[in-house]
Amino acid sequence: MKGKNIVLFGPPGAGKGTQALKLITLLNVPHISTGDMFRYHTKNQTELGKKAQEYMNAGGLVPDEITIQMVRERLGNPDVKEGFLLDGFPRSTPQAKELDKMLEAIGKPLDHVVNISVSDDEIRTRLAKRAGIEGRKDDADQSVIQKRMDTYKNQSEPCLDYYRPLGKVRDINGLGSIDEIFERIRAAITSS
Ligand code: ADP
Repeated sequence: MKGKNIVLFGPPGAGKGTQALKLITLLNVPHISTGDMFRYHTKNQTELGKKAQEYMNAGGLVPDEITIQMVRERLGNPDVKEGFLLDGFPRSTPQAKELDKMLEAIGKPLDHVVNISVSDDEIRTRLAKRAGIEGRKDDADQSVIQKRMDTYKNQSEPCLDYYRPLGKVRDINGLGSIDEIFERIRAAITSS
């Protein structure tokens, strides 16, 4: 295995959070989820949370000046020494370029971009189901779901064009059982 500096990538509902929980146990690295960090801030109504929530509720990206600073601070924590699992960041090519600079500064270049793919129909089904379970406002509204899918296609997916020539992308079929998908990811990051 090359290393444990990893980005989990994929559309909303791809199963990033579910796989992240299994991966951090396997790899013993911190889970850095920008979605979870923003939800923590909105729940506690911090200044950052107040700024982020309108963008989250609308299904768009929180502005880079807020997001990038938050991630930079998090990557400054010494617990990333042995690696990290970034989930939900980067979500645009400018964020990917900024991440490269941050990682260069701490001497921890990215090893893998694990790209989990699922079809649009499957995304809609999964998010509708999750709305009933987790009660996330952004899962409960069809137009917000569509906006998040559009945001992914227009802003996030182009990140792959940035990472692919660098040989960092590990393509994972996101359809199957949780354990099957986990095994695909484990195989991909241990063989490359
Ligand atoms: P999803 O289930 O849609 O992948 P996340 O839990 O990762 O959602 O993120 C929820 C919301 O938080 C996003 O729709 C977006 O508004 C905001 N967000 C998360 N990560 C980022 C990021 N890297 N840049 C900007 N906004 C982000």
